[in-house]
Amino acid sequence: MEILNVFFNSFWSTVNWTIDSITFQVPWYTNYFWGLILISVAVWGLEILFPWRKTQPIFRNDFWIDGFYMFFNFFIFSIAISGIYDVLFLFYNSFGFSLQSLAVINLKNFPLAIQLIVFFIILDFVQWITHILLHKYSFLWQFHKVHHSVKEMGFAAHMRYHWMENILYKPLKTLSIMILGGFEPEQAFIVHFVAITIGHLNHANIKLSWGPMKFILNNPIMHLQHHAYNVPKGKFGVNFGISLSLWDYLFKTNYVPEVQANTKLGFPGDDKFPKKFISQLGYGFKKPTD
Ligand SMILES: [Zn+2]
Ligand SMILES: [Zn+2]
Repeated sequence: MEILNVFFNSFWSTVNWTIDSITFQVPWYTNYFWGLILISVAVWGLEILFPWRKTQPIFRNDFWIDGFYMFFNFFIFSIAISGIYDVLFLFYNSFGFSLQSLAVINLKNFPLAIQLIVFFIILDFVQWITHILLHKYSFLWQFHKVHHSVKEMGFAAHMRYHWMENILYKPLKTLSIMILGGFEPEQAFIVHFVAITIGHLNHANIKLSWGPMKFILNNPIMHLQHHAYNVPKGKFGVNFGISLSLWDYLFKTNYVPEVQANTKLGFPGDDKFPKKFISQLGYGFKKPTD
């Protein structure tokens, strides 16, 4: 009974939170629904005003499907999965595990700015590791192919990814929060909004390098190479950075040959990759044929 209660409580609170966000019933700074739309319109505006690939249409290939992915991954998926996550937490708690069990750093006593920066850096690092695993292991790569099936790059491609990625990123993200003693700074929404903005920019059709900051911040030039059809010889991928490029430079997985706006994107065999959202939804579970 308790399990069912936890499941439905969590499910309905996520449904209600989403409805409240759409109807402006939540504090504006935690409104991810309209926040996501605002960031998207702003970055799309930059693409229209300062396009890097001048011949790319404003409504590029797959613009609408990627736009749909954005809402699917951010809202529809979280509604679908929220109950399951809370039941899992209940299960772990019954074994005495909690978000506090692995606490290494006690962030609570640090100034707010430090809390947010540490939270941002740790979260980004574990996502960088997860992203490498998605490329390294072929059963994980099957799911990650959805993200790499984009042939014309624009901001919305940021959230074009298989729903399984939400699940695959979860363990390391949770682990990092456990290391921080289960502590998410109250203002963590700032970190999330910054990460969404950087992610949108990384996929945008604008030529932005951040100058000398490029060794720290990921950018559209670097990330376009991550999506390149041809991977440098002997590597399974390059430029795995999410928000920060720092990890790629530190661990020598960086690769920025020269600025090539029209780099061919995708992966060998992508001509046979399903084009429709509904077929991509179930992709990755069957044994790969290629
Ligand atoms: Zn990737
Ligand atoms: Zn990408």
